[in-house]
Amino acid sequence: MTRLLPTSTAGSLPKPSWLAEPEVLWSPWKLEGEALIAGKQDALRVSLQEQQHAGIDIVSDGEQSRQHFVTTFIEHLNGVDFEKRETVKIRDRYEASVPSVVGPVSRQKPVFVEDAKFLRSQTDQPIKWALPGPMTMVDTLFDGHYKSREKLAWEFAKILNEEAKELEAAGVDIIQFDEPAFNVFFDEVNEWGIATLERAIEGLKCETAIHICYGYGIKANTDWKNTLGSEWRQYEEAFPKLQQSNIDIVSLECHNSHVPMELIELIRGKKVMVGAIDVANNTIETPEEVAETLRKALQFVDADKLYPCTNCGMAPLSREVARGKLQALSAGAAIVRKELEAQR
Ligand SMILES: [Zn+2]
Repeated sequence: MTRLLPTSTAGSLPKPSWLAEPEVLWSPWKLEGEALIAGKQDALRVSLQEQQHAGIDIVSDGEQSRQHFVTTFIEHLNGVDFEKRETVKIRDRYEASVPSVVGPVSRQKPVFVEDAKFLRSQTDQPIKWALPGPMTMVDTLFDGHYKSREKLAWEFAKILNEEAKELEAAGVDIIQFDEPAFNVFFDEVNEWGIATLERAIEGLKCETAIHICYGYGIKANTDWKNTLGSEWRQYEEAFPKLQQSNIDIVSLECHNSHVPMELIELIRGKKVMVGAIDVANNTIETPEEVAETLRKALQFVDADKLYPCTNCGMAPLSREVARGKLQALSAGAAIVRKELEAQR
């Protein structure tokens, strides 16, 4: 990116009410067959346009074609039975009904590549595409086959690498891996989490990002956050090893969370997508609030490596609130951009 402080979002944006019920996760589709395919493309167009109207620099599909950021990918794999659902505890936090691994996993065919090509055909702006990370995939299903989280994560890493290479060929500029599980299972992160992530990005020439957050603004997450105390130091566990890794960009949560800003120092040298928009409430940030978060982050990340972003996906929010927050992000970034340019 040549522009200073290029804005982007963590990934998901609300879906139109004619496509899926708004403000809920895992919302079932309201259309079927051909109508669903066309509906997803129309929703992607609308989502892209809303990002563009808000002045977002690095745009995405708003995850309009997936029901959920992890399970939709998993459901497209061999070895996973999505009708055989089991209830598991996700992120050590809340129960959810998820698909089961019943045999060796492999990718039948590209999962998101057609969607990415479609997004590419709609804009010349840089595009970012989100995929789930290996550890978060393992943590979002029931494994009745490998019976080893690490073994399954290595298998997923290989599959993700195949998908990522095709997304790159489709013209995606940044491929992001979502790893909220990195904020929970610290021993696994350092034993095999980062290693499997590096396997997933092996050989890629486009930029790569990892998104680590405290989750969507749903009750289970908010309740969990209330138990974390006044200082959230979870990033301290994964950051030193991530700093040494081949990942280009780290996307993290800052605004309204209790993450001490100085933890960003631990990933010095990486580009940082700084979450300056809270996705867990309906209050639209003022541009000045966004600017204040970015200014604080600038103490620990060089200006040319700072990417203003949202804390997490905005799928569970109303479209109106999400639009307001996107505009606030742009306006806040513009304030700080101006300040930086005046100093030059
Ligand atoms: Zn997130």
